[in-house]
Amino acid sequence: MILDQFSLSGRVALVTGANRGLGQGLALGLAEAGADIVALTRRRPDDTLDQVRSLGRQARWAEADLATATPEQLAETVRQARDQAGRLDILVNNAGVIRRQPAAEHPAADWAEVVRVDLEAAFFLSQAAGRLMLAQGQGKIINIVSLLSFQGGVLVPGYTAAKHALAGVTKALANEWAARGVNVNAIAPGYMDTDNTAALRADPARRQAITDRIPAGRWGTPTDLMGAAVYLASPASDYVHGAIIPVDGGWLAR
Ligand code: NAP
Repeated sequence: MILDQFSLSGRVALVTGANRGLGQGLALGLAEAGADIVALTRRRPDDTLDQVRSLGRQARWAEADLATATPEQLAETVRQARDQAGRLDILVNNAGVIRRQPAAEHPAADWAEVVRVDLEAAFFLSQAAGRLMLAQGQGKIINIVSLLSFQGGVLVPGYTAAKHALAGVTKALANEWAARGVNVNAIAPGYMDTDNTAALRADPARRQAITDRIPAGRWGTPTDLMGAAVYLASPASDYVHGAIIPVDGGWLAR
């Protein structure tokens, strides 16, 4: 039956940045669909671990700082997560930073941090998880990209570069791995009510201008991403490869 294909029962998902914001919502959505969760974060994400367990799922913590971890350390983190959880079926590359400074003054350190966390860590985690998934002949990788994978944005050139590139990496990996049972896709959230957009919402004029441009007439919440995430993590999307699904209240359609 079709609804059975959306079940994640018995699966294990590794979710980066699962301590707050969209990552916490993604982890809880996958757990509600049946998955056990490994939360990859810098600090122990007690709130998320408690909430996942209260849903009756197993919850584990994998510690990593994505700004400083080497590719080898990330690969070891993924292997340990798989060994401790017993399997690894789903990777969600959600963790990300944004640094707002005019392009003419954009600090090199901001550029480097954003590219490191938002692009390079996502690639090397995908590489490590992909190796395991290719060996087992199945797996789902979901990259959290952005409207700035399609548009230029303002004051965020490093973020735009990283999110455009991660959309490209999504397609590149899909091309290599689709025939081997591994799905690589992305979700592009619109303007969501999290810490990532706190600066925009703190400016009343900017907040209103953005709200007015969203066809749905409101900012998104972490809950709004759950459906797309469960779909891309589940057998229901087995023939979906290299797609970037906007969950944006209609922003890109306007
Ligand atoms: P958020 O509330 O600021 O959360 C960012 C997450 O990334 C946190 O869990 C944070 O962990 C983690 N992170 C940052 N730097 C890290 C590092 N060096 N190592 C490990 N984890 C790190 O933002 P969000 O809105 O939930 O964003 C989640 C993802 O969605 C990001 O990739 C973002 O670009 C994307 N996105 C957001 C929006 C939006 O409107 N909010 C729109 C499009 C795309 P700490 O708590 O340790 O800092």
